[in-house]
Amino acid sequence: MPAGRYAPSPSGDLHVGNLRTAVLAWLLARSTDRDFLLRVDDLDRVRPGAAERQLADLEALGLDWDGPVLWQSTRSGAHQDAVRSLIDAGRTFECFCTRREIAEAPTAPHHPPGSYPGTCRDLSPAERDERRRDRPAAIRLRSEVDEWTVHDLLHGAFTGPVDDLVLQRGDGVVAYNLTVVLDDAHQGVDQVVRGDDLLPSTPRQAHLATLLDLAVPEYAHVPLALNAGGARLAKRDGAVTLAELTDRGVDVLALIGGSLGFTGAGPREWLADFDPARLPRDPWIVTPPAPD
Ligand code: GLU
Repeated sequence: MPAGRYAPSPSGDLHVGNLRTAVLAWLLARSTDRDFLLRVDDLDRVRPGAAERQLADLEALGLDWDGPVLWQSTRSGAHQDAVRSLIDAGRTFECFCTRREIAEAPTAPHHPPGSYPGTCRDLSPAERDERRRDRPAAIRLRSEVDEWTVHDLLHGAFTGPVDDLVLQRGDGVVAYNLTVVLDDAHQGVDQVVRGDDLLPSTPRQAHLATLLDLAVPEYAHVPLALNAGGARLAKRDGAVTLAELTDRGVDVLALIGGSLGFTGAGPREWLADFDPARLPRDPWIVTPPAPD
């Protein structure tokens, strides 16, 4: 069964912009006869209790999902195996650079700012042995392309850089850009709907999927919620979570539905009117009530 999904990181409570993205992911999956799956990306930045509250919020909005929630931390063995297979295929190198060394190294002219300057790409075995004494290596992709193109329902063809990205950090944690690809494929996800802040990383992810012989999903990167100043909506903007807004008498379903042009009571009613061609294309400006 083809599937869409929502994959929050349990780093805190979802704000109303995140909730709207989840609603859109649900609508797009359900309107295209897909399963809707939930994955908790709990490899990093986990706040105790946050995942449970996120799931309860999604349920309270009327979203449902198929099968059990996948906790990404249960997939560590598969993540490590994939890194190992890329190492064995000669597609990686060990990197000992600190963030600072990367920031200070000159980048090659055809590489975008911030991309890996190639420092550890061609270390000799002796140099590697020496550097291993200083710190544990991160594993980077030995990228053979500079860029990759993906197709997005809202953005059309989108081309972005693919550098020697980190696959596994020095502390052993497998990087998000790889785990997202592995876990989406594992769950049979063929439709990825998420905030458009992740669009720039998508060519890297699609390229990794291709290297691993995994199908590349269809993508829809939806606009983020912004505050009145045009910055990404955040906790400091006031009451932004379901609980905070409800406490102040805001009907969050009406707020989200209204922002999408729906009048019905909730996602189930909206589904009847939902047309993917009407996915929002402009950021959603939210002016939350002030905090108490
Ligand atoms: N867990 C990631 C985040 O919340 C998103 C993963 C995704 O949708 O690909 O930023």
